[in-house]
Amino acid sequence: MTTEYRVALDRAACDGVFACLVRDDRFVEASDGLATIGATDTDGEETVVATFDDDRIEAARQAAAACPVDAISVSEGSDE
Ligand code: SF4
Repeated sequence: MTTEYRVALDRAACDGVFACLVRDDRFVEASDGLATIGATDTDGEETVVATFDDDRIEAARQAAAACPVDAISVSEGSDE
């Protein structure tokens, strides 16, 4: 079963601990040393938001729960 959900990453809060990367491989290290979602050329972006429609919301939630600074939020639906 797939779920539509939105993942937001507050890069201003991100501390580059990378606990998220090992829980969900959609999180990657950007060239500025902070985490991002998807493409790695997000330097300077304060918040990256991605929407997904798949069966991996649990991985995203685990990444969010693992983040020591609560920089990741996961919400179901695509329009909030
Ligand atoms: S776990 Fe949080 S602080 Fe660490 S890299 Fe991921 S988003 Fe940034």
